[in-house]
Amino acid sequence: MTILPISSTNQKTDLLALSLPQLQQWLVERGEAAFRAKQLYQWLYKRLVTDFAAMHTLPPTLRQQLAAEATIGPMIVRSEQHSKDDRTRKILLELVDGKLIESVLMLYPALGESSARATVCVSSQAGCAFGCTFCATGQMGFARHLSAGEIVAQVLHFARELQAASWRAAGLPGSDPIDHITNIVLMGMGEPLHNYDNVLQALRILNSPDGFNLGARHMTVSTVGLVPAIRKLSQEHLQVNLAISLHAPTDALRSQTMPVNRKYPISELIAACQDYIAVTGRQVTFEYVLLADVNDTPTHAHQLGDLLAPLKQFAHVNCIPVNATSAGYHPPGPDAIRAFRAVLREHGVSNSVRAERGDDIAAACGQLRTHFERSKNT
Ligand code: SAH
Ligand code: SF4
Repeated sequence: MTILPISSTNQKTDLLALSLPQLQQWLVERGEAAFRAKQLYQWLYKRLVTDFAAMHTLPPTLRQQLAAEATIGPMIVRSEQHSKDDRTRKILLELVDGKLIESVLMLYPALGESSARATVCVSSQAGCAFGCTFCATGQMGFARHLSAGEIVAQVLHFARELQAASWRAAGLPGSDPIDHITNIVLMGMGEPLHNYDNVLQALRILNSPDGFNLGARHMTVSTVGLVPAIRKLSQEHLQVNLAISLHAPTDALRSQTMPVNRKYPISELIAACQDYIAVTGRQVTFEYVLLADVNDTPTHAHQLGDLLAPLKQFAHVNCIPVNATSAGYHPPGPDAIRAFRAVLREHGVSNSVRAERGDDIAAACGQLRTHFERSKNT
């Protein structure tokens, strides 16, 4: 990770915010040949270098000019935590204006049919404007949107880490080491569809075959349910996965925990999902944070099954036992989770439960920043 004096980076162009055609234009404006952009892209996204001086296929004068005028995702790692089994790594990043965001790397060894994965959980905003009551980020309020470059840089940080030291699950000697990022999920801090243009730009940059070349099917956008943006996304001809944070089966309950529901109630949200499915032919995941004694009873599961019935096999529910935050919610026990899922199965709704990961490192989004700021203040 480049560590530059923060004040000197503000005036420079962050190359990680530019698509390949934009980089070509940027170079042509400086009297360079357009083909240099592809070379530069290779250094940024395949070789993953952070130092212009190392880009030896570029002429020395260009390298000097780049060093003077451009940056490669400048941020400072302020804190880093690894879970005991090292399958979850969480970092707190300081942006050029001092704002703090979190990113998480989750490593999954190959298991049966499924191949090994390295998933980066990316933040899209500093803070969040939507104030869900169970979410640590939501309780911080909104600071600002992240630029496309700040989104891309989070992924590259972990890509460099795995390139430098590949990972293999302890006790699984037969499995291949993981040395690159296979998936990204926009489930860190912030609401990605509230920062629509920068998020889409970042996804397109990461998708570029001349650069990072991560398949759109390996990217997941998670949204609190911004109906117009979901409709817009369906028109983008992108194969990204869509996850909807539903978390309650009725308007009365959803409006209590998710204020956004007062603007976009459940009927409008489900209608937008149906249209999304009709246009894209893709399954939609519904995230359901299980809050003990709030939304986790068999009655809630029946209501959820009825709600999703019209979507048929195109709906999948991901049950997520809540990570306790200061808000006082608790995850249900295993019996309640089993009963909830059994009711969904009765309704023919496919579902899974998110394995708890990294709970020893304050896993839920926003928690590391909260801990960091508390410790700074004491
Ligand atoms: N703003 C987007 C994406 C970021 S949140 C969204 O809300 O979908 C990513 C996921 O983490 C969401 O499903 C969110 O509801 C969930 N989440 C938030 N706080 C949580 C907590 N304390 N425990 C478990 N999941 C949480
Ligand atoms: Fe924002 Fe998502 Fe947290 Fe809700 S759950 S406050 S939308 S980050």
